[in-house]
Amino acid sequence: MNYEWDVAVNKAIVNNAPRVQQILDDNPYIKDVASELRKTKNTVLDNIETYISKTEESVKRTGGHFHYAKDGEQAMDIVREILGEKSKIVLSKSNVLYEIKLREELEKEGKDIWETDMGEYLVQINNDMPSHLVAPAIHLTKDKIGKLLHENLDSAINENTSPEEMVSIVRKFLMEKYLGAEVGITGANAIAADTGSVLLIENEGNIRMDTVLPQVHIAITGIDKIVPTLKDAFNEVIVQASYAGFYPPAYINVTSGPSATGDIELKHVSPATGPKEFHLIVLDNGRKEAIDSDIRESLLCIRCGRCYFSCPSYKLYGKDFGDSPYTGPTGIMWSAITMKKYDKSMLCMHSGGCHEVCPMDINIPQVIEKIKFRYMES
Ligand code: SF4
Repeated sequence: MNYEWDVAVNKAIVNNAPRVQQILDDNPYIKDVASELRKTKNTVLDNIETYISKTEESVKRTGGHFHYAKDGEQAMDIVREILGEKSKIVLSKSNVLYEIKLREELEKEGKDIWETDMGEYLVQINNDMPSHLVAPAIHLTKDKIGKLLHENLDSAINENTSPEEMVSIVRKFLMEKYLGAEVGITGANAIAADTGSVLLIENEGNIRMDTVLPQVHIAITGIDKIVPTLKDAFNEVIVQASYAGFYPPAYINVTSGPSATGDIELKHVSPATGPKEFHLIVLDNGRKEAIDSDIRESLLCIRCGRCYFSCPSYKLYGKDFGDSPYTGPTGIMWSAITMKKYDKSMLCMHSGGCHEVCPMDINIPQVIEKIKFRYMES
């Protein structure tokens, strides 16, 4: 990578690592929750069909629609069927949406589709791919962002424009998109099998808009996001936010079915003000196969992004270490699961820093060693 990358990644490390350490020192309970979560997620993997069925029952009970997709193509067919003629779409940050190439496909089909997370919006206008799970645009410097916004959004933006002004201009643009959107598409940070709830954490407030303003909400995520109960789902999002350096997260969004009211004689009436349709699409795409394989541990990953900043290969190669959106140490594992791509594992130096900081205690270097064997065999 280049000089700009060195500056960007070193700033991210300096900002992120001490912040996460402080969060963990101030809230020692989080480490205990993380080790409990590891056990819980292993139980789900041992009984994945049961938990998928439970999730289906719960989503239907709350008035939502449940869909199961064995791969990206099937997921896209389901999305197209739900969309029909609807063409105004807002998206929130999700690696699974990249995994199934959702924006790319729908843009080709002429849909008016916009990323609403600030980093993802910048990645979109740069015709780029994300470089980090939770910080997709860390490879872009302020100068580069100013140039992009100048060319794509507002010619008044120049090298002297402050980050605050840039955010304010993007915010106005996105507000128009939220208000006109017919469909909001999100990922999920966790799914509760007992209630059919989808949990999403964020700081910007865009997910709140994406899930409430459009009349249709589609959540698409991997089967690995299912946990047994709503309490487990809260545990997962708290651990994820903490290890990402955002504790407490500004918003935890919980969606359990479409909007509803009980205000007229306590009769359940749906829809109310928010979406009239809620769809949950759970995606396999290699995950079930991985459960019974030598890289099963990868599926415990909660995508906090912590391992990136302890990884010498990521510092050196940036988003070339992995296959975007799955980059960094965890990306090597997810590229193997979802794309059957193994070659980038050969760039791993086995420093072990990733394992030391992983909240799920995944022995990432050992998993990557298995992926290297797969590469050598292929
Ligand atoms: S492998 Fe561990 S540290 Fe890396 S993103 Fe996943 S849970 Fe976080």
